[in-house]
Amino acid sequence: MKEIGHWINGKLVAGTSGRFADVFNPATGEVQARVALATKAELDAAVADAAEAQVKWGATNPQKRARVMMEFVRLINRDMDKLAEALSSEHGKTFPDAKGDVQRGLEVIEFCTGAPHLLKGEFTDSAGPGIDMYSLRQPLGVAAGITPFNFPAMIPLWKMGPALACGNAFILKPSERDPSVPLMLAALLQEAGLPDGVLQVINGDKESVDAIIDNDTIQAIGFVGSTPIAQYIYGRGCANGKRVQCFGGAKNHMIIMPDADLDQAADALIGAGYGAAGERCMAISVAVPVGKATADGLIERLVPRIEKLKVGPWTAGNDVDYGPLVTGAALERVKGLITSGVEQGATLVCDGRNFKLQGYETGFFVGPTLFDNVTRDMDIYKQEIFGPVLSTVRTDSYEEALAYAMDHEYGNGTAIFTRDGDTARDFANRVNIGMIGINVPIPVPLAYHTFGGWKKSGFGDLNQHGPDSFRFYTRTKTVTSRWPSGIKEGSAFNFRAME
Ligand code: NAD
Repeated sequence: MKEIGHWINGKLVAGTSGRFADVFNPATGEVQARVALATKAELDAAVADAAEAQVKWGATNPQKRARVMMEFVRLINRDMDKLAEALSSEHGKTFPDAKGDVQRGLEVIEFCTGAPHLLKGEFTDSAGPGIDMYSLRQPLGVAAGITPFNFPAMIPLWKMGPALACGNAFILKPSERDPSVPLMLAALLQEAGLPDGVLQVINGDKESVDAIIDNDTIQAIGFVGSTPIAQYIYGRGCANGKRVQCFGGAKNHMIIMPDADLDQAADALIGAGYGAAGERCMAISVAVPVGKATADGLIERLVPRIEKLKVGPWTAGNDVDYGPLVTGAALERVKGLITSGVEQGATLVCDGRNFKLQGYETGFFVGPTLFDNVTRDMDIYKQEIFGPVLSTVRTDSYEEALAYAMDHEYGNGTAIFTRDGDTARDFANRVNIGMIGINVPIPVPLAYHTFGGWKKSGFGDLNQHGPDSFRFYTRTKTVTSRWPSGIKEGSAFNFRAME
């Protein structure tokens, strides 16, 4: 059995804990490897080495750090197919989707090549007689990232890129479900010129996460995953005096107005609801048509499109629409939620529970599932399902549809489909959600904007990537300096002397 360890001080090393987690091939259900789960002692030792390596890296000028990022971009592009294959084989997502996962992470590394510009401070000349004032952005020291299974390339890259470009050392604790790609990325960073020890990839579970939260050397933690864990890490991390940002779960609503192009809306819902088997924090999981004719027209258009969806393993080629769920436990949970929807009175229009694929009977597949007449009190509405399940909530007015999106505890993303600019503008202004799409179903901001949800989808003050990430991974220091001689007679800066 293949054993996956850690990346410590520039080398792959085996774990010492004797504890492991299974890594599955989700298409067959077989265990394909086991990943070591680090102890607190392993984590603490890696952090101590990282702190030592950070001293020199933090003092390296930003342009040199940016050049490492430039080379990293080139190497990721060189190895794109290899990375995507490893990603698909552990996560289960289709090959084009896996490449998209790497690509959206790569774009943040491209953003990080602008580190010299992004780290420029502020300067006030002559704040008083002979007094200048300037603000610096300095690295924090050692920062850590804890990431989820659903984007095993993108989210580690969103975390490590800005942290390293700002001059920090970084401890990455990736998901134990699909640990190979983060280790491959660490090796590429070494090839790009990152000094050993500056990035440590420690695989593990709650024990290593708790060790991160309680380690006094770690100054900041960036987390992405489910809301209960986000809240836990945010609470305990802040109590330990760390800078913490935690991004949690989602339940993204798409409002379809009576004037929307229903074919366009149905196409958008198929991609946003079922793509990546619904295992995206920006997936649309609730369709909110306004008016009976809109709802009937939408369901009429969704059903034939759902029937055409091709579900299969990533190895079956590029025309597969989505693959299996990540684990058997995820499969059972999603099927259980579908059953609860039926029991609680929703209309099950398409049922994916009994989906079977010849040759892959033991894989973690769920067929595309569609519910109509879903109401607020149902578990399929309240909970994040994280599977290929779309719920339809029927409403009579725009205000009622808006209230659904606003009242839900999650606030990651939302979308409105309409031809009316006034409605779209009102929606974007009023809705209490972080990322908004107008006739765009998955409004993921590009690398130079920031990404983050509101309400129970995001905890902390600053978002991921974009300028916020450079603020998160640096500390501001403001220097006031006074040179008693002030402005000398005849100096080029003595404007009075020039008059
Ligand atoms: P998860 O919360 O189970 O795991 C995330 C990380 O936390 C992993 O590294 C895991 O090892 C660790 N972890 C798990 N249980 C823990 C515990 N009890 N104590 C300490 N650490 C623990 O999430 P997941 O299933 O890997 O990912 C899916 C979730 O992530 C979904 O809820 C999804 O919406 C969310 N997500 C959010 C965003 C966003 O930007 N808001 C992006 C991607 C995914």
